[in-house]
Amino acid sequence: MSVLWVLGAGQLGAMLKQAATPLGLDVRPVDIESTETLALSPDDIVTAEREEWPETVATKQLATHSNFVNLATFPQLADRLTQKQWLDRLELATAPWFPVEANSTADLAYETLGDRVLMKRRRGGYDGKGQYWLKHAEGTDIPEDWKGLAIAEQAINFDEEVSLVGVRGKDGQTHFYPLTLNLHINGILYASISPLERLKPLQNKAESMLTKLMDALDYVGVMAMECFRVGDHLLINELAPRVHNSGHWTQAGASVCQFENHVRAVTGLPLVPANVKNQSMMVNLIGVDVDYQWLNIKGLELYWYKKDVRPGRKVGHLNFCSGDLSVLQTALSTLDLPEPYPEALTWLAKNLP
Ligand code: ATP
Ligand code: MG
Ligand code: MG
Repeated sequence: MSVLWVLGAGQLGAMLKQAATPLGLDVRPVDIESTETLALSPDDIVTAEREEWPETVATKQLATHSNFVNLATFPQLADRLTQKQWLDRLELATAPWFPVEANSTADLAYETLGDRVLMKRRRGGYDGKGQYWLKHAEGTDIPEDWKGLAIAEQAINFDEEVSLVGVRGKDGQTHFYPLTLNLHINGILYASISPLERLKPLQNKAESMLTKLMDALDYVGVMAMECFRVGDHLLINELAPRVHNSGHWTQAGASVCQFENHVRAVTGLPLVPANVKNQSMMVNLIGVDVDYQWLNIKGLELYWYKKDVRPGRKVGHLNFCSGDLSVLQTALSTLDLPEPYPEALTWLAKNLP
């Protein structure tokens, strides 16, 4: 039987493998620093858990395989410049922006985008790393080493952040999870909650936006679209051509989770609309040690990534799914986590129906 290789051996690769195990599929995440010669067969399939990678012994072997799904799409979306160009070309709403070039000035940014402008490195940024605020009031200038390597984006005074996780098959069929409400603190995702009745009016619009994009790219697999909700409107913040942190709740809360859906799509297995079970929420574990006493909390599901704990580093997540909202409220009031978690837990409690 053919093997599904995953470029990257982080938590996303591990969870793809975990989801594929009951299907009897052989999924092999590959560490990009591995120097091993991989036993690739022509009928194997290759996917990735990350949108960008350096050229290494491992990535060279995988990236030259003829069944690397979406290979041409990764560089298009991994570079924020070409990603924004795709959004503009498809007339998909996004924060106003321009490329930061050698001759770009902060004055031009303030003139065209307003008094607060967020520069983002074109490549490699994640968890809010690779961002630089330009503030007119403080007279901030564009550092030389950002020129040619960043985009500048208008600061969006959004009401909240939502994301849509969808899957597209080889035949072009698409399926979506309900919109997820996300809380970022200092640019990093702390908590998600889904489904929410009050987001339903935005579901169709969001699905049509992501469908347009996946169709244009002839994309196969799971893709995530992060949006700002401004009133009744959605502005696309960014796209991720892979399984996504804001879809982790589907492991507990959907009959087919995002990881299984991605595996099904790239291997050409049947896709069906996932049955969303109950109310779900997810808490990212960021820079905190594992505490197995958490397992005393009813309804809690722990995913610990076995990574070294460092401040600001995602090292696990907690999923909760229940039809009994009091179980979820009790879990939130029982969880004892350091700053800035009280804000995230209060936010979840407030957003529970
Ligand atoms: P991720 O870990 O999701 O890949 P990232 O580092 O790629 O994050 P973005 O998603 O672009 O970065 O930004 C991180 C967060 O910063 C957003 O979720 C949002 O909270 C805030 N942010 C981004 N762009 C803007 C903007 N134009 N205006 C206001 N806030 C923004
Ligand atoms: Mg990102
Ligand atoms: Mg983001």
